[in-house]
Amino acid sequence: MSKKIESMLAAGPLVTDGAWGTQLQARGLPVGECPDAWNLSNPEPVNEIAAAYVEAGSDIILTNTFGANRFTLARHNLDDKVVEINTAGVEISRRAAGDRAKVFASIGPSGIMLMMGDVSREDVQAAFDQQARALADAGADAIVIETMSDTDEARLAVTAARATGLPVVACMVFDSGADCDRTLMGTTPEQAAELLSAEGADCVGANCGQGIDGFVAICRRLRAATTLPIWIKANAGLPEMVDGQPVYRQTPEEFAARVPELIEAGAGFIGGCCGTTPEFIAAVRRTLAAV
Ligand SMILES: [Zn+2]
Repeated sequence: MSKKIESMLAAGPLVTDGAWGTQLQARGLPVGECPDAWNLSNPEPVNEIAAAYVEAGSDIILTNTFGANRFTLARHNLDDKVVEINTAGVEISRRAAGDRAKVFASIGPSGIMLMMGDVSREDVQAAFDQQARALADAGADAIVIETMSDTDEARLAVTAARATGLPVVACMVFDSGADCDRTLMGTTPEQAAELLSAEGADCVGANCGQGIDGFVAICRRLRAATTLPIWIKANAGLPEMVDGQPVYRQTPEEFAARVPELIEAGAGFIGGCCGTTPEFIAAVRRTLAAV
């Protein structure tokens, strides 16, 4: 495990941030538009979100770079802006964090289905290499690979992130199977923890896909399968579709009420994914202060 991660966790579990995508949409980002592009074209709402999480008590904030790989950006004709968008994303979060929080830079899926064979592994690897290098050069404290459904793709991203020398967090999304405890590709938490640990991740985890209730068991299973720290970011419950838009009904207090169980199950880093807000993070912070 990375010494940096180890020393960060020495004083107990840490609070990460909440959602960015749904927060950007709440600030006017149209569904289908490229969230990462706002780092350059409309940075003020991005600043606001980063600052709101620091204010809410995040020990770690992420960056608005989840989709800033060349394949995802190409869908918005922005694949020539990979370095600029990732650099700006780290700079925005760094400014908001000051010396109050660390900046862990986000890498999401490429959108390429490796098993289809349309794009080679080498090309996907090169895309992650480019993004990870840009995030590291811009001064990120660590890299978080998140919302991965395919461990094969996650491993390419871990390889890219490790090459920067920064600590690496690797997370899968468990949203499939009868018990919602498998990735879309059928991988279990145990298999994911073993594969990602073997690939050299410094921390493994789960994010997105379901509400916090389902994460307690997943966290326990990850904990049993690896000695690495565990990173958990749950959604604000399951969304209800209203006028074609997902609406999350869970309250910050309901979410935070499950945090003691997550800690008991072995989580070292706790935050929120889709639908969570700075109020959720503040509630998690209050709960942690009380345990
Ligand atoms: Zn999410």
